[in-house]
Amino acid sequence: MSKRDYYEVLGVEKSATAQEIKKAYRKLALKFHPDKNPDNKEAEDKFKEAAEAYEILSNDEKKAKFDRFGHAGMGGGGFGGGGGGGMNMDDIFSQFGDIFGGGGGGGFSGFGGGGGRGGRRVNRGSNIRVKVKMTLADVVNGVEKKIKVKKFISCNPCSGSGAEGGSGGFTTCDTCKGAGQVNRITNTFLGQMQTASTCPTCGGDGKIITNKCNSCHGDGIVKDDDTIELKIPAGVEDGMQLSVSGKGNMGARNGVAGDLIVAIEEEEHEELKRDGNNILYDLYIPFPDAILGTDITVPTVNGKAKIKIEPGTQGGKVLRLRNKGIPDVNGYRTGDQMVNVNVWTPQTLSKEEKGIIEKLKDSENFVPSPTAQDKGFFGRMKDYFS
Ligand SMILES: [Zn+2]
Ligand SMILES: [Zn+2]
Repeated sequence: MSKRDYYEVLGVEKSATAQEIKKAYRKLALKFHPDKNPDNKEAEDKFKEAAEAYEILSNDEKKAKFDRFGHAGMGGGGFGGGGGGGMNMDDIFSQFGDIFGGGGGGGFSGFGGGGGRGGRRVNRGSNIRVKVKMTLADVVNGVEKKIKVKKFISCNPCSGSGAEGGSGGFTTCDTCKGAGQVNRITNTFLGQMQTASTCPTCGGDGKIITNKCNSCHGDGIVKDDDTIELKIPAGVEDGMQLSVSGKGNMGARNGVAGDLIVAIEEEEHEELKRDGNNILYDLYIPFPDAILGTDITVPTVNGKAKIKIEPGTQGGKVLRLRNKGIPDVNGYRTGDQMVNVNVWTPQTLSKEEKGIIEKLKDSENFVPSPTAQDKGFFGRMKDYFS
């Protein structure tokens, strides 16, 4: 596979500053992050490609080599464990430390950067996915829900350390001297290159447990029930996913927690149907009401609403109840409720009723005149979409 130019990958000029490179990478990393693109191989490849480009262009020495020699300068095992395979996900997530700012504070603490901790790896717990059912009223009003999940939480007896008796039960790892990383010097035709990889002895922790905690067997996490309060905003849609940072599984040995991913499932309403931000209602009115007009109540998500049926209303007329629909999830506008008026045509009649109708048949007022008031189907559709 031939590789794309690293500048092209990040979409920056060759003259870009370190700040511009970082900014471009941050944007791509967010866009193609696997949490946002589950089971999307293409996004994952793009994510890795961007990480690799950033790895090179954010390092003065590597960048200079790439500028002079192109991809040829990166070959020979000089980078990331070699062979053109690029970076693995752990490498990428450990890189996030300096991108998203020291693994704390901002919206991306869940990325498990662990910046400023001497390169030691921080274990990131996995995400938890839950489905939440929403009624139409929940969608219109927004809702707070308590959900129960079984998840990994920090082990209490060892305070999440994994060692019996807490922090006393460790020795510093001999292989990496506590750094959690080992450096490898490789000789290439361009000179010596140094690569860092996770310490094989301690798995990146920098220390080794001498006496494992009985409750968690050294993992520092145990499975337990947790109740999570969710605030789901109005306007969400079936299939939407909301992510709650840090409410997923706890990472091993005082790591960071993954996210809780909430998938929205909409329940159907008995009478009302959702159409984007609008709500549709099919109203049937008696034939005499269509002729004489009347006031009528219709159901809305929050209680009933009164509407006026004008005398001479045609079947198929659409009446609009403003702002009785669904708020936009971004809060910009609220939809309407559209009331589709159907005129009920009786299907059985008594002899007397039949006689009355037959008398009316001869009246010229009962001959259809589509141009008279409502504008027929296409005219009504124009109303609907306006
Ligand atoms: Zn080690
Ligand atoms: Zn424990």
